[in-house]
Amino acid sequence: NQHTPQHLSAIIDAFSIEGTIATIKPYGSGHINDTFYLKNEDQTHPDYLLQRINHAIFKDVPALMDNVKKVTEHLRKKLAAIPDSNPKKQVLTIIPLKNGLLYFKDVDGNYWRMYLYLTDTNSYDLVEKEIQAFEGGKAFGRFQALLSDMDATLLAETIPDFHNIEMRLSRFYKAWSTDIAKRRDEVNEETDFINKRVDVMKSILNLGKEGHLSLRITHNDTKFNNVLLDANDKAQCVIDLDTVMPGYVAYDFGDAIRTIINSASEDEKDLNKIKLNIPLFEAYTKGYLSEADKFLSAVEVDSLMMGVLLIPYMQAVRFLTDYIEGDVYYKTNFEGHNLQRTRAQIQLLKEIEAEHDTLVGIIDRVYNELKNATTLIS
Ligand code: ATP
Ligand code: MG
Ligand code: MG
Repeated sequence: NQHTPQHLSAIIDAFSIEGTIATIKPYGSGHINDTFYLKNEDQTHPDYLLQRINHAIFKDVPALMDNVKKVTEHLRKKLAAIPDSNPKKQVLTIIPLKNGLLYFKDVDGNYWRMYLYLTDTNSYDLVEKEIQAFEGGKAFGRFQALLSDMDATLLAETIPDFHNIEMRLSRFYKAWSTDIAKRRDEVNEETDFINKRVDVMKSILNLGKEGHLSLRITHNDTKFNNVLLDANDKAQCVIDLDTVMPGYVAYDFGDAIRTIINSASEDEKDLNKIKLNIPLFEAYTKGYLSEADKFLSAVEVDSLMMGVLLIPYMQAVRFLTDYIEGDVYYKTNFEGHNLQRTRAQIQLLKEIEAEHDTLVGIIDRVYNELKNATTLIS
């Protein structure tokens, strides 16, 4: 890491913290920001988490931090009204600068922010057990539910058109027409696969445009390691709020399912290894709907499966675009890495399509069971 302790100390000094920082160490397995754990000398004071925000990806850091502030304030207010909740542990707390700003800009143009460090928590990169999938679903379902009464238009788009498939496709077709790296002719089969599904993949956008789907506040990076679990592995806090912005609920559901349901890695070379883990799908769905059933419309419930199809498709489109453009966006480890990633996502989508009715059946059954249970109680 390029950040020296002296450099970091000068940055930390700008923040309004309690006590004195005794140790600073690089932390976690995030891919986007640089994260440091700050341990307080005197343990009567809290520990902190310092992050250099990736400004190459997030162009408007003030707007990003404004989003995080609005969302965490709303969550805190909502949680405070729920018995047995603990807003301090269940929501991220921004530590402002001594001058009140929410981020620090250093002499090199880097942006830094600080959060309260949440003690006695774990996060895992991989979901292995049904109980974990359930807790992940619950965390993101609750997150969406608590934000469902907040006006989504108050938030900025931290990455414009992030989940907009029309934009992703138009960039793909532009890359294809330009064919700058002369790779287009190698990917006819993959291009055909994408072409055949263009209309169906616009379903969510179209439902939104026609006013059938509400624009909600969504997380947009619903990986399992963006949920902190408590000492008993129960969901405690949703973290990594950089991409929180207006969106459709199915994007978050589909993004979580894309990795949970895949028994292989995102760039698996051996396509035979890409199989669906349906018990994990069901467990995530149960956790998610146990919280989200309170606010989802019937159309939103129906849209969840569209998200499950859309997100691997969108990943395939993005990887293939990058391959055709000569690997300019994603880091690649070998020649053809982006093509291998494309093929793995296409294979995953084929598997999902083959189990389409089973997966819809699970969503509907879980949803109806929850609805029947609520009717019995009331
Ligand atoms: P990603 O690759 O998911 O985008 P990132 O680089 O944006 O990650 P974060 O997810 O914000 O980084 O943080 C990295 C890791 O630090 C998390 O996976 C988690 O383990 C830990 N972490 C983040 N915030 C906190 C917190 N407030 N308290 C304790 N641990 C935290
Ligand atoms: Mg993260
Ligand atoms: Mg992140």
